[in-house]
Amino acid sequence: MLDLCFLGTGGSIPMPNRALASLYIRVDGQSILLDCGEGTQIGIMRLGWGFRCIDALLLTHFHADHCSGVPGFLLALAKAGREEPLHIYGPHGLQRVIDGLRVIAPQLPYPILLHELPMAGSSFSAIGLDIQAFPLDHGIPCLGYAFHLNRMPEFDPCKARALHIPIEMWKVLQHGTSVVVNGRSILPSEVQKGERRGISFTYASDTRPTESILSHAFNTDLLILEGMYGEEDKLPLAIKNHHMLFRESAALARDAQAARLILTHFSTSMETPEEYLPNATEIFPSTECATDGMCVSLSFPDP
Ligand SMILES: [Zn+2]
Ligand SMILES: [Zn+2]
Repeated sequence: MLDLCFLGTGGSIPMPNRALASLYIRVDGQSILLDCGEGTQIGIMRLGWGFRCIDALLLTHFHADHCSGVPGFLLALAKAGREEPLHIYGPHGLQRVIDGLRVIAPQLPYPILLHELPMAGSSFSAIGLDIQAFPLDHGIPCLGYAFHLNRMPEFDPCKARALHIPIEMWKVLQHGTSVVVNGRSILPSEVQKGERRGISFTYASDTRPTESILSHAFNTDLLILEGMYGEEDKLPLAIKNHHMLFRESAALARDAQAARLILTHFSTSMETPEEYLPNATEIFPSTECATDGMCVSLSFPDP
């Protein structure tokens, strides 16, 4: 099971009822924070899933609405008693930006490990998720992230019986560890059925539409895209500011054959983004607007 929570859904500047866009990702009690604008720590407190279990911070880019909350977040993590390293991932410029932000949060009881990611794309793992970073089109270095949670193939009791494996050893094999029976080592793959589909979701904000979004969101269970402008007449502004209309995000979800689209990162020009939702749903019906505090759980499909 994979849980997501939209801590904030605003772009540019926070509003009284809308914090800046940040996503909390949780898998089996371990967490990742994706983007950290001003005040993100308030959303984490409100959610109650904890600070200390956050192993990694992923940053899309270095506009203030995505990273100005980092010093406060780092201090909150310290206050929560974290001593294990915190990994911070982000595009070109990460070292310079984090060094600058840490001028006001210099003393921390845990190490910070920075991972400046190449703009051409890269892969890494965190909290059991396989993550691919890919380039977006925002006028400055900006990355999208595609997440995949693999699922172990199903255990096959018939194969285990045929190999005379005692029942008390089945659990070990089910957890992916080899066992030795009558002097022979048996691999988990010898007692498994075929591959099983895992869970995937893709996050891209802030950006114009790109081929990289399409390829990294192909067939995804959930696509999360920016919904900076709902109004149809804002296309020139969207192009100028390297953002997207609802309609453009919906077209990406349709073309990527995503199962579901959630829009976030709304302009302050929209008091109620839902008002403009039909501009997206007429292109891709499975579209929703995120709201602050909205949680989504993604489960492995049956069986
Ligand atoms: Zn932004
Ligand atoms: Zn931006």
